[in-house]
Amino acid sequence: PLPSIRGDVKFDNVVFEYEPGRPALKGISLNVEAGQSIALVGHTGSGKSTIINLLCRFYDPVEGKVSIDGVDIRDVTIDSLRSQVGIVLQDTFIFSGTIRDNIRYGRLNATDEEIVEAAKAVHAHDFIMSLPDGYDTQVEERGNVLSMGQRQLLSFARALLADPRVLILDEATASIDTETELKIQDALKTLLAGRTSFMIAHRLSTIRNADLIVVLDHGKIVEQGTHDEL
Ligand code: ATP
Ligand code: MG
Repeated sequence: PLPSIRGDVKFDNVVFEYEPGRPALKGISLNVEAGQSIALVGHTGSGKSTIINLLCRFYDPVEGKVSIDGVDIRDVTIDSLRSQVGIVLQDTFIFSGTIRDNIRYGRLNATDEEIVEAAKAVHAHDFIMSLPDGYDTQVEERGNVLSMGQRQLLSFARALLADPRVLILDEATASIDTETELKIQDALKTLLAGRTSFMIAHRLSTIRNADLIVVLDHGKIVEQGTHDEL
């Protein structure tokens, strides 16, 4: 791994097409300084997920390049990229096992104390302690022991433990009660602090708090600026 990366992310005139002749990204240039939070917004099909897909190297650009700290991500091993670029998906992934295991998945050598610390930092500790077996409570992949909001907080704890320099967040769209919503907002601040983040944001509060809002349309950036500017 490259433990010392800063987390500057650059898209240099990136063109990408899933199918020949039908570009999903038509020359994206974006310069993100380490520590900045970016909200990607735009209509369905505008290219938000595609930007994320390239940053994770699920695909490579057809033209142009994506670099982190000035290094083309094609020149970095997948393992080291995975350790530096973390992703929290919309359908927050929970597997069958204990709550503890689910959080520990962020960093397999984490101690129990570190797990509790991460859970506390993102306001997940209290609901975990209210479950029948606390951190040893068994959850199922498709089970409904946990609400959407709780799943989200759990995935934040996992991401915090993994501590990547660059964090990608595909925010859940599910409606969440006000109390959990406030917890999520506060947990997000903790989670984003000191990292570069790319968020496919659905909550207005997340968009408002981003350092830079990037508006996409048909594979192009049509506007960018802060919430006040736009
Ligand atoms: P949404 O808000 O619906 O998630 P999005 O902004 O994330 O939309 P993308 O998924 O990046 O949009 O899609 C950009 C373009 O690429 C669209 O025209 C879409 O149809 C196309 N596309 C996306 N994924 C694929 C794929 N796997 N194969 C072929 N075309 C795809
Ligand atoms: Mg998408």
